[in-house]
Amino acid sequence: MKKSIHDLGDIKGKRALVRVDVNVPMDENKNVTDDTRIRAILPTLQFLKDKGAKIILMAHLGRPKGEWKTEFSLEPVAKYMSKLLGEDVLFVKSPVGKGADKELEALKDGQVALLENIRFYKEEEAKDDDMTFAQELAKLGDFYVNDAFGAAHRKHTSTAKVAHILKPAVSGLLMEKELRCLSQALDNPVRPFTAVVGGAKVSSKIGVLENLIDKVDNLIIGGGMAYTFVKANGGKIGNSICEDDQMDVAKAIEKKAADKGVKIVMATDVLATDDFSGNGTNKIVDVKNIPDGFEGVDAGPETQKAFAEVLKNSKTILMNGPVGAFENPAFANGTKAVLQAIVDATKNGAVSVIGGGDSVSAAKQFFKAEDFTHVSTGGGASLEFIEGKVLPGVAALDDK
Ligand code: AMP
Repeated sequence: MKKSIHDLGDIKGKRALVRVDVNVPMDENKNVTDDTRIRAILPTLQFLKDKGAKIILMAHLGRPKGEWKTEFSLEPVAKYMSKLLGEDVLFVKSPVGKGADKELEALKDGQVALLENIRFYKEEEAKDDDMTFAQELAKLGDFYVNDAFGAAHRKHTSTAKVAHILKPAVSGLLMEKELRCLSQALDNPVRPFTAVVGGAKVSSKIGVLENLIDKVDNLIIGGGMAYTFVKANGGKIGNSICEDDQMDVAKAIEKKAADKGVKIVMATDVLATDDFSGNGTNKIVDVKNIPDGFEGVDAGPETQKAFAEVLKNSKTILMNGPVGAFENPAFANGTKAVLQAIVDATKNGAVSVIGGGDSVSAAKQFFKAEDFTHVSTGGGASLEFIEGKVLPGVAALDDK
């Protein structure tokens, strides 16, 4: 367990150096078009404000690759935050080590400041262990807070290195919630525990599958990656996506599941198409007998029922990856049905965690975040967490 801002003592007048993820989309006039990430850090900001800390935010926007480029400036985000908080957020234009500290002298207790894009410094993402930039950053705060779960899998200066110098180093409330929900599901699940793993490729989910097999009771494998399993078992998959070099891996995963008594649930029928754009012929076929010229793109009705049945009886559910090419409405029914079953199970008391970029966009597209116990804000970070990897941004924080 890592310390959080709840574990800090009196912080009135102290400078909190806080890494946040406010990498929000903007239109051509620099208007924020989706403020989900900004709203997600409000509880942490409010907590620190109530305690009278001076709040100095570090964040990135886009990929400026170590160059000072105005199109990636965080100034519009500072303006947006000012409106949202109903008070002035101090935007610090001067570079760290070259005047930022002077600008920050104006910061009052309980006020928020935002530093310019941390990825304007090439040292931020540098792999070498030169800690000069980390030391410069550390000088700006009296303690460190990491609330950027979405960047916690990166060993960057603001996400990890500075936490080794500036102490105490603790998690913010969003980070704390992410870690609590993901670890509760993975390490302490109420059973039966079912994982839905989908997406395009087996190769990108091997780590997830291998780690989950040690923990779950049921493993629903869906989406494009399932066809590698079907072909490995002698099925005829037509033009469906398949990684021939992963067939041994698929067999090994099935064997491991059988040895551990984990039930693998896969499609029996699928929606197959002769045109991935959705304008061709679509038909429901047996997953083991997909005609040539057709590819499986979604779970069929019988499969949807079977997936829903397993989910309905689960008490902990983790979803990582869609069970079809849901971006096309013609191929979205399977993913919708799986999400509906998860929403229903949640209403009946199950803990549900949606982790990973594509399942999160599907969950938000078809339902509301509140319909699930937790929708992770970190794509890559939640994937690595589910794989059982140590996240550098989390490891660097103080233990309880
Ligand atoms: P991943 O990033 O590996 O989680 O893959 C997510 C992507 O897999 C989504 O963009 C889906 O459209 C895609 N996907 C899921 N099922 C299929 C399928 N049967 N054929 C092609 N793509 C799929």
